[in-house]
Amino acid sequence: MAISRRKFVTNSTTALAGIALGKSALGDTVLNDMGNGTLPIVVSTWKHGLAANRAAWAILSEGGYALDAVEAGVRVPEGDPLVTSVGYGGIPDQTGKVSLDACIMDEKGQAGSVCFLQHIKHPISVARLVMENTPHVMLSGKGALKFALANGFKKENLLTPEMKKKWKEWKKKQEARDIINFENRSKDDHDTIGMLALDAEGRLCGACTTSGVPYKMFGRVGDSPIIGAGLFVDGQVGGAVATGQGELVMKTLGSFLVVEFMRNGYSPKEACLKAIQRITKQIPDYQKYQVGYIALNSKGEYGAFSIYPGFDYAIKTNEDDKLKEAESFRKLL
Ligand code: ASP
Repeated sequence: MAISRRKFVTNSTTALAGIALGKSALGDTVLNDMGNGTLPIVVSTWKHGLAANRAAWAILSEGGYALDAVEAGVRVPEGDPLVTSVGYGGIPDQTGKVSLDACIMDEKGQAGSVCFLQHIKHPISVARLVMENTPHVMLSGKGALKFALANGFKKENLLTPEMKKKWKEWKKKQEARDIINFENRSKDDHDTIGMLALDAEGRLCGACTTSGVPYKMFGRVGDSPIIGAGLFVDGQVGGAVATGQGELVMKTLGSFLVVEFMRNGYSPKEACLKAIQRITKQIPDYQKYQVGYIALNSKGEYGAFSIYPGFDYAIKTNEDDKLKEAESFRKLL
């Protein structure tokens, strides 16, 4: 997302309360987030992660499977018209169409994904079916829709009347500017849900689902359905999910990178910071955008990092049910 969409206070003195000093492969600059290794645990992006985590928790707390938990969890914002960045009620593209991207991974490295999917409220469940019932990883557009309909999903209008009205207002303004392009896109908030869960048996799974950046070009696909970009899970090591301007995440294969840093001994938070640093080193105009990562390792430790302040993420364990703001790169400067 463009940074102007969120309230960025670069000199924010956001308290680091609740952040514990951990063994740091980066020296003393990184205070690690918590996670005392108690299972199960679920973490997810943004404020809507709180309700999503509770739905996941209903499964995890009964000894259920992390894959069922992440699917059930992210279906909550997918079905909620008040969450305007995911599923039903999502902000449409420039042509007024809602198109959705989603992917899912299990602890064994199995993956399923759909992109540019229209008319289906729960793309995450279609992605899971792609993973479990086809020899493929990703289905797109009309093919994904055909597959969903053949498997009993209902064709629905995902554009709510409120969103239609907003889109019309946006379109009028854009027409007045005589140009519709990427740089002139909306400044509305836009927040993918990405979720990682580790169940009582130590199985780590993840899910990621979004309607993409608001008023995107027709046909645009972001990072969220791309395995390794929007989501990556290695059940032996850990998982990561991304949110923010997907193009930056795609160019650096961000979630895969986070997991590889964890494989090399970094804590989840350090790994997220290092993947953010990859963006700030390699992408010259990164300052215009926000990206956030969250990560969970196979020991149940979690962490997050973003380019700018304002990225919060939700954590649910036996003891915790909270929202926390990620530390950010710009604040460290
Ligand atoms: N990453 C998503 C995309 O680029 C958007 C977001 O997370 O806000 O489609």
